[in-house]
Amino acid sequence: MSSAMSFKVIRGGRVLDIQSHRADPADVLIEGSRIVEIMPPGKPAPQDAETIDASDRLLIPGLINAHTHSHGGLAKGAGDRWSLELLLHAARWISGNRTAEHMYLSALASALEMVRKGCTACYDLFLELPLPTREGLEAVGRAYTEVGMRAVVAPMTADRTFYQAIPGLLDALPPPLRHDIEAARMAPGDATIDACRTLLHHMPFDPSRIRLALAPTIPLHCSDEFIIAHRDLAQEYGVGLHMHLAESKVQAVSGITRYGKTLTAHLDALDFLSPRFTAAHAVWLGRDDIQRLADNGACVAHNPGSNLRLGAGIAAVHDMMQAGVTIGIGTDGANCSDNQNMFEAMRLASFVSRVRNFDYEAWLETSQALVMATEGSAKALGFDADIGRLAPGYQADIVFLDLNHVNYLPLNDPTHQLVHTEDGSAVDSVVIDGEIVLWQGRFTHIDLGSVRAKLEVAQEALATQNRDARQLTEALEAHVGRFCVGLARQPYPVHATVAMD
Ligand SMILES: [Zn+2]
Repeated sequence: MSSAMSFKVIRGGRVLDIQSHRADPADVLIEGSRIVEIMPPGKPAPQDAETIDASDRLLIPGLINAHTHSHGGLAKGAGDRWSLELLLHAARWISGNRTAEHMYLSALASALEMVRKGCTACYDLFLELPLPTREGLEAVGRAYTEVGMRAVVAPMTADRTFYQAIPGLLDALPPPLRHDIEAARMAPGDATIDACRTLLHHMPFDPSRIRLALAPTIPLHCSDEFIIAHRDLAQEYGVGLHMHLAESKVQAVSGITRYGKTLTAHLDALDFLSPRFTAAHAVWLGRDDIQRLADNGACVAHNPGSNLRLGAGIAAVHDMMQAGVTIGIGTDGANCSDNQNMFEAMRLASFVSRVRNFDYEAWLETSQALVMATEGSAKALGFDADIGRLAPGYQADIVFLDLNHVNYLPLNDPTHQLVHTEDGSAVDSVVIDGEIVLWQGRFTHIDLGSVRAKLEVAQEALATQNRDARQLTEALEAHVGRFCVGLARQPYPVHATVAMD
């Protein structure tokens, strides 16, 4: 019998039902990579079924990270009091000179952390400069394949540098230091589009596990022609689009300066908003912008950890939900969050909703946070028919939490405790696509010790190679930082939903 047809049965566990706040004993029958039945405990399984023991385990759908960057894996812990703009300013230092091997190792670090903390799929906007290549894509995909994780991978692209993107910024930098930065250029837009087309044409992975998408990174960093070319390419190949949208007030104010309208209105005018589009962050939206996203069936990836770390603001998740926008939850890259912990992301999503509004009825319920981090994120990834639920027909992406862990002493309400108590430390085992990838805290395919050694060698080599970039970044930091604070203090002439109301 081929392994694709083999049966497994997970016995002795308790299966979460998010909406009823219950976790009743049930067994899970899997055929190949899919769940066939959630059945009464002890119900006979096909004779050749392999038994997986889940005694004292709470079984939940794998959490899905709607927005991350695998290049952040090598840069976790870089920087402290960085706004989004100071993070972008530091890119040449913390993400420069990466080889395909570095891309692989960084994605490996990121994927290992996600799985260890109960996440089974992610939307990864990875960086490769000057152009995305097949070698780079294969390196990132290889990391996910080796860990056994599911991913949508999207090369993050731009045809303007950060310094060209923010009106007035270059002129605010002291002339002796700004020469290199002024001379820097992104690859021509046509070359980047051609490179993306090549990847789409030669996509080397099994699309049930790893899919490709496109990610023109930030509206201000992309010319209109460049954005339109991505839109058309995504349409032609039937793939997703992902973009950082109105993440910071600096971007929101600069959008008005450049386009004479909000960033969301600008994308709408370019016909960029659609059901294939996932907007990351969506913090600085007006009510009309929320309606634009809803009317076009777009998803939003909400990243409260990153938004807090970078001081970007807090998205109007309740208003977006009311308008009918699908919301997923993400961690963002480890270079700005600085972990890949989806339990923490859910908890923060719940908590930040409480500082946005005095009315408790507008706060996120724990069941809503859990649905966002599973079904909502699945939709953002374009995987919603396959993952995000423990139900017959869905892929067997299942996280086992240890009910003997202190987080469940006692177990009062599994839905509340998964969002408000769990921090990932009770994650015991993880099944993805019907395969055990983590068993009782140990990766089944990966030796963490050898990964650590390789990461340390890479990290040291990159620190040496990027020393000059670091010096220049640090020399200019206050100039960039103060200029952007000035922009952020300008009034934003949009009926914003950001303040408490
Ligand atoms: Zn991001």
